[in-house]
Amino acid sequence: MTIQTDTDEKTNLKSLTKEELQEFTEELGLQSFRSDQLFQWLYQKGVHNFDEMTNLSKDLRSRLKEIAKVPTIEYATHQESEDGTMKFLFKLQGEKDHKVEAVLIPDFYEDGAANRLTVCVSSQVGCVFGCSFCATGKMGFFRSLTHGEIVDQVQYIDALCEERFGKGITNIVYMGMGEPLHNYKAVVNSANIITDELSIGLSPKRITVSTVGLTKQIKKLADERQPFNLAISLHAANDEKRDEIMPINNSMGLDKLKEAVQHYYDKLHRPITYEYLLFDEFNDSPEDAQQLADIVQWAPSKVNIIMYNDVAGVALKRAREQRLDAFMQELVSRNVTATVRRSRGDDIDAGCGQLAIKEGQPMGK
Ligand code: SF4
Repeated sequence: MTIQTDTDEKTNLKSLTKEELQEFTEELGLQSFRSDQLFQWLYQKGVHNFDEMTNLSKDLRSRLKEIAKVPTIEYATHQESEDGTMKFLFKLQGEKDHKVEAVLIPDFYEDGAANRLTVCVSSQVGCVFGCSFCATGKMGFFRSLTHGEIVDQVQYIDALCEERFGKGITNIVYMGMGEPLHNYKAVVNSANIITDELSIGLSPKRITVSTVGLTKQIKKLADERQPFNLAISLHAANDEKRDEIMPINNSMGLDKLKEAVQHYYDKLHRPITYEYLLFDEFNDSPEDAQQLADIVQWAPSKVNIIMYNDVAGVALKRAREQRLDAFMQELVSRNVTATVRRSRGDDIDAGCGQLAIKEGQPMGK
């Protein structure tokens, strides 16, 4: 790596992995512990101003100001749902006025104390895959986020949780705007940073990366032995219906997905989660449940049946309770481990498939 000088664009420290940050400090002729100190300032203390990095010498801080920068995403607004779900809007740095959303889904014990604090993060501004039920897919695609911009969402919400609930976040799902595995490097780098003990130090078991089924990248996760959980947004259990609502299935059908899933399980022996949005009279018949049960046989897996939150302009609608019951009975009779998830935050459009930038209230934080 070459350190850029005053005449060049400054080096964005939040675009470097931990190893690249090490190289950066080596090139400056610094001892290796300096790299860890910088990493901690960036990712544990969330400091973006070199003057606040008080364990670095004055000279070093001045040098860093000349050659490096630490851009960060900016909180813009938020909305809070009746069920406690909070949706945040963040502004990205750059020429274009790009924004992304992240969602905090808190679970509480009976006494009101916070239990699980799950953050759903965005990995791209918009999405190329155009799934017919998805509000993000309708925006088109603008750009992928850097790993620093993904970690920033987590850090902001983690700090807010500490302040509001007296504890940090407990789980992360990469299920916000964008297809995470279409931004593979940044997603994996961000998850590796978040799990680093010099950062938030979250267990990799508490991180789930979701995908519409990008088979090459699923195999890559396995080959690289990435320690995070995998969730596949399935949403239809035969090619005909999946082709209709998820264009990716036209080029990567269920046969290819099966091969990738089996490769993943053979390498990692980690169960797969399938996400299945239940749409009224589209994919909610007992026959659909049978086909889903066949897919679950590919490798040890569990299924989340998600009650869809209707999106304006989308013909698919949430399944009725009666049809959900029959669907679940069919799955249970076939020994499928399935849980019904009632999508949270639907009154603020923070549910599954609903993230598409709407302004909320300033936080006043
Ligand atoms: Fe993209 Fe996921 Fe929405 Fe499909 S469901 S359009 S992959 S964000």
